Amino acid sequence: MTVRTRFAPSPTGFLHIGGARTALYNYLFAKKNGGTFVLRVEDTDAERSTSESMDIILDSMRWLGLEWDEGPETGGEYGPYNQSERSEIYDRYLRILEEKGHVYEDDGAIRFRVPDKTITVHDEVCGDVSVNLKEQGSRRYNQETKQEEEANPDIVIRRPDGSYIFHFVNVVDDIEMGITHVIRGEDHLSNTPKHLALFEAFESAPPVFAHIPLNLNPGGTKMSKRDQGALIHEYRDGGFLPDAVNNYMALLGWSAKDDTEIFTMSELCERFDLSGVNKSNSKFDFAKCKWVNSEHLKRLSAEELLEAATPFVESANLPAADPRMPAALELARERAEVLAEIPAVIETIFAGEATYDDASVEKVKSRDGIAAVVTALREGLAGVEDWSVDSIKAGISTAAEGIGAKMGALMLPCRVGVMGSTSGADLVPVLELIGKEGVLKRLDQFAAKLG
Ligand code: GLU
Repeated sequence: MTVRTRFAPSPTGFLHIGGARTALYNYLFAKKNGGTFVLRVEDTDAERSTSESMDIILDSMRWLGLEWDEGPETGGEYGPYNQSERSEIYDRYLRILEEKGHVYEDDGAIRFRVPDKTITVHDEVCGDVSVNLKEQGSRRYNQETKQEEEANPDIVIRRPDGSYIFHFVNVVDDIEMGITHVIRGEDHLSNTPKHLALFEAFESAPPVFAHIPLNLNPGGTKMSKRDQGALIHEYRDGGFLPDAVNNYMALLGWSAKDDTEIFTMSELCERFDLSGVNKSNSKFDFAKCKWVNSEHLKRLSAEELLEAATPFVESANLPAADPRMPAALELARERAEVLAEIPAVIETIFAGEATYDDASVEKVKSRDGIAAVVTALREGLAGVEDWSVDSIKAGISTAAEGIGAKMGALMLPCRVGVMGSTSGADLVPVLELIGKEGVLKRLDQFAAKLG
Protein backbone atom coordinates (compact mmCIF):
# COMPACT_ATOMS: atom_id res chain seq x y z
CA MET A 1 0.00 0.00 0.00
CA THR A 2 1.32 3.42 -0.91
CA VAL A 3 0.80 5.92 1.87
CA ARG A 4 -1.27 8.92 0.80
CA THR A 5 -1.76 11.80 3.22
CA ARG A 6 -3.46 15.11 2.66
CA PHE A 7 -3.60 18.59 4.10
CA ALA A 8 -7.08 20.00 3.58
CA PRO A 9 -7.19 23.70 4.50
CA SER A 10 -10.27 25.86 4.16
CA PRO A 11 -9.12 29.09 2.51
CA THR A 12 -10.78 31.50 4.91
CA GLY A 13 -7.72 33.27 6.34
CA PHE A 14 -3.97 33.01 6.75
CA LEU A 15 -1.95 29.85 7.28
CA HIS A 16 -1.94 29.51 11.02
CA ILE A 17 0.73 27.67 13.01
CA GLY A 18 -1.78 24.96 13.96
CA GLY A 19 -2.66 24.32 10.31
CA ALA A 20 0.96 24.47 9.24
CA ARG A 21 1.85 21.91 11.88
CA THR A 22 -0.87 19.62 10.53
CA ALA A 23 0.50 20.13 7.01
CA LEU A 24 4.03 19.38 8.25
CA TYR A 25 3.05 16.15 10.00
CA ASN A 26 1.23 14.95 6.90
CA TYR A 27 4.22 15.88 4.77
CA LEU A 28 6.70 14.16 7.08
CA PHE A 29 4.58 11.04 7.41
CA ALA A 30 4.28 10.75 3.63
CA LYS A 31 8.01 11.31 3.09
CA LYS A 32 9.01 8.90 5.82
CA ASN A 33 6.91 6.18 4.17
CA GLY A 34 7.79 6.92 0.57
CA GLY A 35 4.24 8.13 0.07
CA THR A 36 2.38 11.00 -1.55
CA PHE A 37 1.42 14.27 0.11
CA VAL A 38 -1.77 15.76 -1.33
CA LEU A 39 -3.02 19.31 -0.90
CA ARG A 40 -6.80 19.60 -1.13
CA VAL A 41 -8.60 22.90 -0.87
CA GLU A 42 -11.82 22.67 1.11
CA ASP A 43 -13.54 25.69 -0.36
CA THR A 44 -17.18 24.60 -0.40
CA ASP A 45 -18.11 27.48 1.89
CA ALA A 46 -18.39 30.04 -0.90
CA GLU A 47 -19.10 32.93 1.43
CA ARG A 48 -16.01 32.52 3.56
CA SER A 49 -13.50 31.15 1.03
CA THR A 50 -11.35 33.63 -0.90
CA SER A 51 -8.67 33.27 -3.53
CA GLU A 52 -6.48 35.76 -1.61
CA SER A 53 -6.52 33.42 1.34
CA MET A 54 -5.67 30.49 -0.92
CA ASP A 55 -2.69 32.37 -2.36
CA ILE A 56 -1.40 33.19 1.11
CA ILE A 57 -1.76 29.58 2.23
CA LEU A 58 0.02 28.25 -0.87
CA ASP A 59 2.77 30.87 -0.50
CA SER A 60 3.28 30.06 3.15
CA MET A 61 3.48 26.34 2.39
CA ARG A 62 6.00 26.92 -0.36
CA TRP A 63 8.04 29.16 1.92
CA LEU A 64 8.12 26.36 4.48
CA GLY A 65 9.18 23.97 1.72
CA LEU A 66 6.12 21.78 2.22
CA GLU A 67 5.73 21.14 -1.49
CA TRP A 68 2.75 18.97 -2.31
CA ASP A 69 3.03 16.05 -4.72
CA GLU A 70 -0.56 16.56 -5.90
CA GLY A 71 -2.83 19.54 -5.58
CA PRO A 72 -3.60 22.99 -6.94
CA GLU A 73 -1.14 24.27 -9.54
CA THR A 74 0.74 20.95 -9.39
CA GLY A 75 -2.09 18.76 -10.65
CA GLY A 76 -2.30 14.99 -10.28
CA GLU A 77 -4.45 12.03 -11.16
CA TYR A 78 -7.18 12.71 -8.64
CA GLY A 79 -7.99 16.32 -9.44
CA PRO A 80 -9.49 18.81 -9.46
CA TYR A 81 -8.11 19.53 -6.00
CA ASN A 82 -10.47 22.38 -5.13
CA GLN A 83 -13.71 21.08 -3.70
CA SER A 84 -15.61 23.91 -5.39
CA GLU A 85 -14.84 22.18 -8.71
CA ARG A 86 -15.90 18.70 -7.67
CA SER A 87 -19.70 18.95 -7.55
CA GLU A 88 -20.24 16.24 -10.14
CA ILE A 89 -18.29 13.78 -8.03
CA TYR A 90 -20.37 14.71 -4.98
CA ASP A 91 -23.61 14.33 -6.94
CA ARG A 92 -22.49 10.87 -8.02
CA TYR A 93 -21.72 9.88 -4.43
CA LEU A 94 -25.03 11.25 -3.26
CA ARG A 95 -26.78 8.98 -5.77
CA ILE A 96 -24.96 5.99 -4.27
CA LEU A 97 -26.39 6.84 -0.85
CA GLU A 98 -29.83 7.40 -2.37
CA GLU A 99 -29.76 4.01 -4.09
CA LYS A 100 -28.81 2.32 -0.86
CA GLY A 101 -31.53 4.12 1.06
CA HIS A 102 -29.14 5.93 3.40
CA VAL A 103 -30.55 9.42 2.80
CA TYR A 104 -33.86 11.24 2.74
CA GLU A 105 -35.13 14.71 2.04
CA ASP A 106 -36.05 17.00 4.88
CA ASP A 107 -37.33 20.51 4.11
CA GLY A 108 -35.21 20.77 0.98
CA ALA A 109 -32.08 19.47 2.73
CA ILE A 110 -30.73 15.94 2.39
CA ARG A 111 -30.05 14.01 5.56
CA PHE A 112 -27.90 10.94 6.07
CA ARG A 113 -29.47 8.35 8.35
CA VAL A 114 -26.98 7.67 11.13
CA PRO A 115 -26.82 4.06 12.29
CA ASP A 116 -28.12 3.15 15.73
CA LYS A 117 -24.97 1.43 16.98
CA THR A 118 -21.72 2.11 18.74
CA ILE A 119 -19.03 3.44 16.43
CA THR A 120 -15.45 3.26 17.63
CA VAL A 121 -12.69 5.43 16.27
CA HIS A 122 -9.31 3.73 16.67
CA ASP A 123 -7.13 6.79 16.77
CA GLU A 124 -3.35 6.38 16.49
CA VAL A 125 -2.78 9.20 18.97
CA CYS A 126 -5.89 9.54 21.10
CA GLY A 127 -6.77 5.85 21.41
CA ASP A 128 -10.30 4.45 21.08
CA VAL A 129 -13.27 6.80 21.15
CA SER A 130 -16.77 5.26 21.03
CA VAL A 131 -20.12 6.86 20.43
CA ASN A 132 -23.62 6.04 19.28
CA LEU A 133 -24.51 8.88 16.93
CA LYS A 134 -28.20 8.18 17.09
CA GLU A 135 -28.29 8.43 20.86
CA GLN A 136 -25.88 11.34 20.99
CA GLY A 137 -27.74 13.38 18.38
CA SER A 138 -31.28 12.71 19.55
CA ARG A 139 -31.20 15.41 22.17
CA ARG A 140 -29.77 18.87 21.83
CA TYR A 141 -29.32 21.74 24.24
CA ASN A 142 -31.31 24.79 23.21
CA GLN A 143 -29.36 27.96 24.04
CA GLU A 144 -32.48 30.12 24.09
CA THR A 145 -34.77 28.03 26.24
CA LYS A 146 -31.83 26.59 28.21
CA GLN A 147 -33.53 23.21 27.91
CA GLU A 148 -32.60 19.88 26.37
CA GLU A 149 -34.94 19.08 23.54
CA GLU A 150 -35.50 16.36 20.99
CA ALA A 151 -33.41 16.64 17.85
CA ASN A 152 -32.99 14.80 14.60
CA PRO A 153 -29.70 12.86 14.88
CA ASP A 154 -29.42 12.34 11.11
CA ILE A 155 -26.73 14.50 9.54
CA VAL A 156 -27.55 17.11 6.94
CA ILE A 157 -25.17 16.41 4.07
CA ARG A 158 -26.68 18.78 1.50
CA ARG A 159 -28.25 22.14 2.26
CA PRO A 160 -31.52 23.26 0.65
CA ASP A 161 -29.48 25.51 -1.68
CA GLY A 162 -27.74 22.42 -3.09
CA SER A 163 -24.37 22.99 -1.44
CA TYR A 164 -22.74 20.08 0.34
CA ILE A 165 -21.72 19.92 3.99
CA PHE A 166 -18.13 19.46 5.15
CA HIS A 167 -18.53 15.92 6.56
CA PHE A 168 -19.81 14.58 3.27
CA VAL A 169 -17.30 16.15 0.89
CA ASN A 170 -14.44 15.44 3.26
CA VAL A 171 -15.23 11.71 3.28
CA VAL A 172 -16.02 11.51 -0.44
CA ASP A 173 -12.69 13.11 -1.26
CA ASP A 174 -10.74 10.93 1.12
CA ILE A 175 -12.27 7.93 -0.67
CA GLU A 176 -11.84 9.34 -4.19
CA MET A 177 -8.28 10.51 -3.57
CA GLY A 178 -7.23 7.19 -2.01
CA ILE A 179 -6.19 8.79 1.27
CA THR A 180 -4.69 6.16 3.58
CA HIS A 181 -3.89 8.31 6.65
CA VAL A 182 -5.82 11.29 7.99
CA ILE A 183 -3.64 13.35 10.29
CA ARG A 184 -5.49 16.42 11.54
CA GLY A 185 -6.25 18.57 14.57
CA GLU A 186 -7.99 17.11 17.59
CA ASP A 187 -10.89 19.49 17.02
CA HIS A 188 -11.98 17.02 14.33
CA LEU A 189 -11.94 13.95 16.58
CA SER A 190 -15.60 14.43 17.50
CA ASN A 191 -16.51 14.54 13.78
CA THR A 192 -14.77 11.27 13.06
CA PRO A 193 -17.61 8.89 14.12
CA LYS A 194 -19.81 10.66 11.54
CA HIS A 195 -17.09 10.20 8.97
CA LEU A 196 -16.77 6.51 9.84
CA ALA A 197 -20.54 6.09 9.42
CA LEU A 198 -20.24 7.60 5.94
CA PHE A 199 -17.28 5.40 4.99
CA GLU A 200 -19.35 2.40 6.02
CA ALA A 201 -22.35 3.56 4.02
CA PHE A 202 -20.09 3.80 0.96
CA GLU A 203 -18.69 0.34 1.81
CA SER A 204 -15.26 1.85 1.77
CA ALA A 205 -12.46 0.97 4.23
CA PRO A 206 -11.70 4.06 6.32
CA PRO A 207 -8.21 5.54 6.47
CA VAL A 208 -6.06 5.41 9.57
CA PHE A 209 -6.86 8.40 11.81
CA ALA A 210 -4.39 10.34 13.92
CA HIS A 211 -5.65 13.45 15.69
CA ILE A 212 -3.00 15.85 16.93
CA PRO A 213 -3.67 17.53 20.28
CA LEU A 214 -4.26 21.25 20.19
CA ASN A 215 -1.64 23.92 20.29
CA LEU A 216 -2.31 26.34 23.13
CA ASN A 217 -1.00 29.85 23.63
CA PRO A 218 1.18 30.63 26.67
CA GLY A 219 -2.01 31.60 28.54
CA GLY A 220 -3.28 28.04 28.10
CA THR A 221 -6.16 28.81 25.74
CA LYS A 222 -6.49 27.83 22.09
CA MET A 223 -3.95 29.75 20.04
CA SER A 224 -5.63 32.45 17.97
CA LYS A 225 -4.42 34.53 15.04
CA ARG A 226 -3.77 37.44 17.38
CA ASP A 227 -1.18 35.53 19.40
CA GLN A 228 2.48 36.19 18.72
CA GLY A 229 3.85 33.54 16.36
CA ALA A 230 0.43 32.48 15.10
CA LEU A 231 0.75 33.35 11.41
CA ILE A 232 3.29 31.69 9.12
CA HIS A 233 3.90 34.63 6.77
CA GLU A 234 5.03 36.71 9.76
CA TYR A 235 7.91 34.29 10.38
CA ARG A 236 9.37 35.14 7.00
CA ASP A 237 9.24 38.88 7.72
CA GLY A 238 10.54 38.31 11.24
CA GLY A 239 13.72 36.66 9.95
CA PHE A 240 13.07 33.02 10.69
CA LEU A 241 14.49 30.24 8.55
CA PRO A 242 11.81 27.95 7.11
CA ASP A 243 13.52 24.79 8.33
CA ALA A 244 13.78 26.23 11.84
CA VAL A 245 10.05 26.92 11.83
CA ASN A 246 9.43 23.36 10.64
CA ASN A 247 11.75 22.08 13.34
CA TYR A 248 9.91 24.05 16.03
CA MET A 249 6.50 22.98 14.73
CA ALA A 250 7.66 19.36 14.76
CA LEU A 251 8.54 19.72 18.45
CA LEU A 252 5.17 21.31 19.12
CA GLY A 253 3.38 18.01 19.58
CA TRP A 254 6.02 15.40 18.76
CA SER A 255 9.27 14.34 20.32
CA ALA A 256 12.09 12.09 19.25
CA LYS A 257 12.74 9.18 21.56
CA ASP A 258 16.24 10.42 22.41
CA ASP A 259 15.28 14.04 23.25
CA THR A 260 17.13 15.52 20.29
CA GLU A 261 15.65 18.94 19.57
CA ILE A 262 17.44 20.29 16.53
CA PHE A 263 16.67 18.57 13.25
CA THR A 264 17.20 19.28 9.60
CA MET A 265 14.24 18.66 7.34
CA SER A 266 15.71 15.40 6.06
CA GLU A 267 16.31 14.20 9.63
CA LEU A 268 12.67 14.97 10.41
CA CYS A 269 11.55 13.07 7.31
CA GLU A 270 13.54 10.09 8.55
CA ARG A 271 12.57 10.21 12.19
CA PHE A 272 8.98 11.45 12.38
CA ASP A 273 6.49 8.84 13.53
CA LEU A 274 2.97 8.89 14.89
CA SER A 275 4.03 7.05 18.04
CA GLY A 276 6.09 10.10 19.02
CA VAL A 277 3.09 12.45 18.82
CA ASN A 278 2.22 13.71 22.30
CA LYS A 279 -1.15 12.89 23.76
CA SER A 280 -1.53 16.13 25.64
CA ASN A 281 -1.92 19.65 24.28
CA SER A 282 1.23 21.55 23.46
CA LYS A 283 2.02 25.07 24.55
CA PHE A 284 3.44 27.55 22.08
CA ASP A 285 6.65 29.20 23.28
CA PHE A 286 7.96 31.99 21.07
CA ALA A 287 11.27 32.20 22.97
CA LYS A 288 11.90 28.51 22.29
CA CYS A 289 11.01 29.00 18.64
CA LYS A 290 13.63 31.79 18.43
CA TRP A 291 16.17 29.57 20.13
CA VAL A 292 15.56 26.80 17.59
CA ASN A 293 16.05 29.42 14.87
CA SER A 294 19.34 30.57 16.39
CA GLU A 295 20.58 26.97 16.36
CA HIS A 296 19.70 26.70 12.67
CA LEU A 297 21.43 30.03 11.97
CA LYS A 298 24.59 28.64 13.58
CA ARG A 299 24.48 25.60 11.31
CA LEU A 300 24.16 27.46 7.98
CA SER A 301 27.17 27.51 5.68
CA ALA A 302 28.74 30.94 5.16
CA GLU A 303 27.12 31.15 1.72
CA GLU A 304 23.69 30.19 3.00
CA LEU A 305 23.98 32.71 5.81
CA LEU A 306 24.90 35.50 3.41
CA GLU A 307 22.03 34.62 1.12
CA ALA A 308 19.49 34.43 3.94
CA ALA A 309 20.69 37.63 5.63
CA THR A 310 21.02 39.77 2.51
CA PRO A 311 17.39 41.02 2.34
CA PHE A 312 17.55 42.07 6.00
CA VAL A 313 20.98 43.65 5.64
CA GLU A 314 19.86 45.55 2.55
CA SER A 315 16.66 46.80 4.08
CA ALA A 316 18.76 48.28 6.90
CA ASN A 317 20.88 50.05 4.21
CA LEU A 318 23.99 48.05 5.05
CA PRO A 319 26.36 47.08 2.22
CA ALA A 320 25.61 43.41 1.54
CA ALA A 321 28.45 43.19 -1.00
CA ASP A 322 31.11 44.64 1.34
CA PRO A 323 34.02 42.16 1.54
CA ARG A 324 33.78 42.34 5.34
CA MET A 325 30.14 41.23 5.34
CA PRO A 326 30.71 37.45 5.59
CA ALA A 327 32.94 37.95 8.64
CA ALA A 328 30.46 40.40 10.17
CA LEU A 329 27.69 37.83 9.72
CA GLU A 330 29.79 35.22 11.50
CA LEU A 331 29.91 37.55 14.51
CA ALA A 332 26.22 38.37 14.17
CA ARG A 333 25.04 34.77 14.28
CA GLU A 334 26.59 34.38 17.72
CA ARG A 335 24.23 37.08 19.00
CA ALA A 336 21.18 37.26 16.76
CA GLU A 337 18.45 34.65 17.12
CA VAL A 338 16.60 35.72 13.97
CA LEU A 339 17.83 37.32 10.74
CA ALA A 340 15.96 40.52 11.54
CA GLU A 341 18.22 41.05 14.57
CA ILE A 342 21.41 40.90 12.50
CA PRO A 343 21.60 44.53 11.25
CA ALA A 344 21.54 45.98 14.76
CA VAL A 345 24.46 43.76 15.77
CA ILE A 346 26.70 44.66 12.83
CA GLU A 347 25.71 48.17 11.76
CA THR A 348 28.50 49.80 13.78
CA ILE A 349 31.08 47.92 11.70
CA PHE A 350 29.94 49.67 8.54
CA ALA A 351 29.22 53.09 10.05
CA GLY A 352 31.55 56.06 9.48
CA GLU A 353 31.64 56.82 13.18
CA ALA A 354 30.26 55.59 16.48
CA THR A 355 26.71 56.35 17.57
CA TYR A 356 26.76 56.63 21.33
CA ASP A 357 24.20 55.14 23.63
CA ASP A 358 23.91 57.60 26.53
CA ALA A 359 23.46 55.00 29.26
CA SER A 360 26.52 53.09 28.05
CA VAL A 361 28.61 56.27 27.97
CA GLU A 362 27.48 57.19 31.51
CA LYS A 363 28.48 53.76 32.71
CA VAL A 364 32.11 54.07 31.61
CA LYS A 365 32.34 57.81 32.30
CA SER A 366 31.76 57.25 35.98
CA ARG A 367 34.93 55.17 36.19
CA ASP A 368 38.08 56.78 37.58
CA GLY A 369 40.66 57.87 35.08
CA ILE A 370 38.57 57.21 31.98
CA ALA A 371 40.38 59.91 30.00
CA ALA A 372 43.75 58.26 30.71
CA VAL A 373 42.31 54.89 29.71
CA VAL A 374 41.12 56.21 26.36
CA THR A 375 44.47 57.90 25.69
CA ALA A 376 46.33 54.69 26.58
CA LEU A 377 44.03 52.66 24.34
CA ARG A 378 44.60 55.02 21.45
CA GLU A 379 48.35 54.83 21.86
CA GLY A 380 48.40 51.08 22.32
CA LEU A 381 46.27 50.50 19.24
CA ALA A 382 48.11 53.07 17.17
CA GLY A 383 51.23 50.99 17.73
CA VAL A 384 49.69 47.81 16.28
CA GLU A 385 51.45 46.94 13.03
CA ASP A 386 49.55 44.12 11.38
CA TRP A 387 45.89 44.67 12.21
CA SER A 388 44.74 41.20 13.26
CA VAL A 389 42.83 39.83 16.25
CA ASP A 390 46.01 38.69 18.03
CA SER A 391 47.97 41.89 17.55
CA ILE A 392 44.94 44.03 18.50
CA LYS A 393 44.74 42.07 21.76
CA ALA A 394 48.46 42.63 22.28
CA GLY A 395 47.94 46.36 21.65
CA ILE A 396 45.20 46.56 24.30
CA SER A 397 47.39 44.59 26.70
CA THR A 398 50.30 47.04 26.12
CA ALA A 399 47.91 49.93 26.79
CA ALA A 400 46.84 48.28 30.06
CA GLU A 401 50.40 47.73 31.22
CA GLY A 402 51.21 51.37 30.47
CA ILE A 403 48.71 52.60 33.04
CA GLY A 404 49.07 49.72 35.48
CA ALA A 405 45.63 48.32 34.80
CA LYS A 406 44.34 44.85 33.95
CA MET A 407 43.55 44.24 30.29
CA GLY A 408 39.97 43.33 31.24
CA ALA A 409 39.43 46.80 32.68
CA LEU A 410 40.07 48.33 29.27
CA MET A 411 37.64 46.23 27.32
CA LEU A 412 34.40 47.98 28.29
CA PRO A 413 35.72 51.53 27.71
CA CYS A 414 37.14 50.35 24.39
CA ARG A 415 33.81 48.78 23.43
CA VAL A 416 31.80 51.88 24.31
CA GLY A 417 34.38 54.21 22.76
CA VAL A 418 34.45 52.39 19.43
CA MET A 419 31.08 50.65 19.17
CA GLY A 420 29.04 53.20 21.13
CA SER A 421 27.38 50.68 23.43
CA THR A 422 28.09 48.16 26.16
CA SER A 423 26.30 45.47 24.14
CA GLY A 424 26.97 44.07 20.69
CA ALA A 425 29.19 41.56 18.96
CA ASP A 426 32.57 40.33 20.18
CA LEU A 427 34.80 43.38 20.58
CA VAL A 428 38.18 42.44 19.14
CA PRO A 429 36.89 40.88 15.89
CA VAL A 430 34.72 43.99 15.48
CA LEU A 431 37.81 46.20 15.89
CA GLU A 432 39.55 44.12 13.26
CA LEU A 433 36.68 44.61 10.82
CA ILE A 434 36.31 48.35 11.45
CA GLY A 435 40.01 48.73 10.62
CA LYS A 436 42.79 50.57 12.38
CA GLU A 437 42.05 53.99 10.96
CA GLY A 438 38.37 53.79 11.84
CA VAL A 439 39.08 52.59 15.37
CA LEU A 440 41.56 55.39 16.09
CA LYS A 441 39.14 57.92 14.67
CA ARG A 442 36.38 56.68 16.94
CA LEU A 443 38.62 56.77 20.00
CA ASP A 444 39.35 60.43 19.15
CA GLN A 445 35.62 61.00 18.75
CA PHE A 446 35.07 59.42 22.18
CA ALA A 447 37.86 61.45 23.84
CA ALA A 448 36.28 64.63 22.46
CA LYS A 449 32.88 63.53 23.75
CA LEU A 450 34.27 62.91 27.22
CA GLY A 451 35.73 66.41 27.06
N1 GLU B 1 -11.06 21.74 6.04
C1 GLU B 1 -10.91 21.14 7.32
C2 GLU B 1 -10.23 22.13 8.24
O1 GLU B 1 -9.63 23.06 7.76
C3 GLU B 1 -10.05 19.90 7.17
C4 GLU B 1 -10.44 18.80 8.04
C5 GLU B 1 -9.64 17.55 7.76
O2 GLU B 1 -8.40 17.61 7.72
O3 GLU B 1 -10.24 16.50 7.58
O4 GLU B 1 -10.32 22.02 9.43
